[in-house]
Amino acid sequence: MTKDETAEEHQVLTWAEHFAKKHHFILNPDKKKLDVVIRGLARNKRKFGEQYCPCRLRSGDKEKDAAIICPCIYHADEVEQEGSCHCSLYFREDAQPE
Ligand code: SF4
Repeated sequence: MTKDETAEEHQVLTWAEHFAKKHHFILNPDKKKLDVVIRGLARNKRKFGEQYCPCRLRSGDKEKDAAIICPCIYHADEVEQEGSCHCSLYFREDAQPE
């Protein structure tokens, strides 16, 4: 991994930490799983210019795909109803990550 890639991942992680704090979520406490999602977000940002969800398929239509730029339009309902978002990046504070 290049220095730039490491810096990008660090930037995305810092952003995710702030977002989680602000919305009373927690990040996945499983560091390995967390790293995979952060890496995917950073890669998409680098490749496509937006941090598209690494767990969902892009259609290639920018307008449609805006829905899956992290934080996607689904995350709040998923965290509320299922305990975590689809990628298991954000968890409800009282959820028990597997
Ligand atoms: S599922 Fe989670 S990681 Fe993926 S875009 Fe939505 S909030 Fe971000």
